[in-house]
Amino acid sequence: MLKNLTAWIGLAIVLGVPAGLLSAAHPDLSWLFAWTHIFGDVFVAALKMLLVPVILTSLLVGVTSVGDISKMGRLGGRATGYYLLTTAIAIFIGLILVNVIQPGVGADLGTAQMTEQAQAGMGLTPDTLIRDFLVDKNRGAIRNPFQALAEGNVLGIILFTLLLGTALVAIGEAGQPVIAIVKGLDKAVMRVVDWVLWLAPLGVFALLHKSLADGGFAAVKALAAYSATVTLALAIHGFVALPLLVRFLGRMSPRAWLRGIRAPMAVAFSTASSSATLPVTIEACEENLDVPGPVASFVLPLGATMNMDGTALYEAVAALFVAQAYGIDLSLGQQLVVFFTAAAASVGAAGIPSAGLVTMAMVFQAVGLPLEGIGLILAVDRFLDMFRTTVNVMGDTSAAVILKRFAPSGPAPVTP
Ligand code: ASP
Repeated sequence: MLKNLTAWIGLAIVLGVPAGLLSAAHPDLSWLFAWTHIFGDVFVAALKMLLVPVILTSLLVGVTSVGDISKMGRLGGRATGYYLLTTAIAIFIGLILVNVIQPGVGADLGTAQMTEQAQAGMGLTPDTLIRDFLVDKNRGAIRNPFQALAEGNVLGIILFTLLLGTALVAIGEAGQPVIAIVKGLDKAVMRVVDWVLWLAPLGVFALLHKSLADGGFAAVKALAAYSATVTLALAIHGFVALPLLVRFLGRMSPRAWLRGIRAPMAVAFSTASSSATLPVTIEACEENLDVPGPVASFVLPLGATMNMDGTALYEAVAALFVAQAYGIDLSLGQQLVVFFTAAAASVGAAGIPSAGLVTMAMVFQAVGLPLEGIGLILAVDRFLDMFRTTVNVMGDTSAAVILKRFAPSGPAPVTP
């Protein structure tokens, strides 16, 4: 199914770019395609509709899947700690590069208004930052969860979901039926996402046409610069940061590591799905990198669910890029919000193609960026998905080789 959808989106891009550039060159002809803009609006509205259900269910599933951690004791704690560390490093690399390269500056997609909520966060000083981040009555993360859901307050939803998910795991047996329901709900929400994605080809055409008609060649140049920024940042994370960790924490030669994971890297690149790659990843770690079975079968599925360095990096860069393209200046405080929401979004993203695109809406929403920006990014999303999924899988395997040093001895744990 997706294969066809990808083809349709490809067609939309192939047609949308020249149509947009034609309208940029001859504004008098833009009426030819302007009628399609309604599809762009509907597509963006549908993404907004899905935002809250997706955050809620996918994050709950992500967090509760860490449930087996208690069975694995220290190894589980270390795995989660390592995953969070590498996610933070990845986002940091992405934020530095996007601030230095500034791929969106000059794209001139018009000016978008930030939401009031986001504007309120603009001139924060470091000392008020944490306080406002937590308890501000408009933006703070600690709030009535039902109000947060109704208002689409992303920080509020994330915080409560994390607490609820952790508690569901902590209460053991009693939490299991609820977790099963959440898993079912998540599947259903993802099915709705699939349906909405069928609007993507028309939506992409319309949004591309609109952005290019307004922005012309500058927008195309910006998209190329954006893709280059993402791939460069991913390369730095995958081929510099992770190898250093493998070398110093895992005491393994980075070359041997890279040689051992060639197959999962290739599969991840071609499928853009870390879940689909998982069997290959497990096999490569056990066979080529001597990771004991119990460690591989615990650390890697957990990583495929919650550890997505590439996705986190990508979402942070995307948010800053869109802000630059719309001439919105994100303060340091806002970038901190991007940092945390991108990390949460990557935990929430499923290991399937384009999952990061949907959770990206939550990063945008948190800092008040126009969701229309996602339409522009969609044009290169599938292409960049291949690179970020490869880095996602590389991150998981680095955890396996590092954590095998801390493997508990004794019988293999039971994995579901
Ligand atoms: N495709 C990615 C993965 O499977 C998730 C994403 O869309 O970023 O790892």
